[in-house]
Amino acid sequence: RLPVLAVVGRPNVGKSTLVNRILGRREAVVQDVPGVTRDRVSYEAEWNGREFTVVDTGGWDPDAKGLAERIAAQAEVAVAAADAVLFVVDATVGITDADEEVVKVLRRSGNPVVLVANKVDDERGELEAASLWNLGLGEPFPVSALHGRGAGDLLDIILDVL
Ligand code: GDP
Ligand code: MG
Repeated sequence: RLPVLAVVGRPNVGKSTLVNRILGRREAVVQDVPGVTRDRVSYEAEWNGREFTVVDTGGWDPDAKGLAERIAAQAEVAVAAADAVLFVVDATVGITDADEEVVKVLRRSGNPVVLVANKVDDERGELEAASLWNLGLGEPFPVSALHGRGAGDLLDIILDVL
């Protein structure tokens, strides 16, 4: 069995875009309509000659009641089956209640967590990314899943924790 990396976070933070970036191909469905990823989808990835499984998550109606709880519940399922977790936060939005709920799940799991500050498309975004230290999960790694900024460094870190 390959090591499993679960990608969790609220809708629209760029999880599927990041999964595609990790895969080096477009397989995970990205849409401007949030919550388009159905439940959990697994893909095989490779970096520097090491193979691992990436699990994209999603599939909530972002307008549904109790969204934060549902996101946390799905994160719980994905995390239970994972060896490490990529927790994706939208650095341009900052920390939301739903993000805080996911943090509780991640703490309980005891899995290694890599905190991704996504949508840092340029240097100006680095400051916003630094505010994610407040989640208490350690260093936030700024990336632009869309443009690839920081993606190589992130993959090196993923291999370190897997
Ligand atoms: P998911 O719901 O978390 O899977 O998010 P998606 O990957 O579907 O992306 C949601 C929206 O955010 C899409 O319009 C993406 O193009 C956009 N997006 C994702 N990553 C980035 C990024 O690094 N920078 C910017 N500016 N937009 C991004
Ligand atoms: Mg998605």
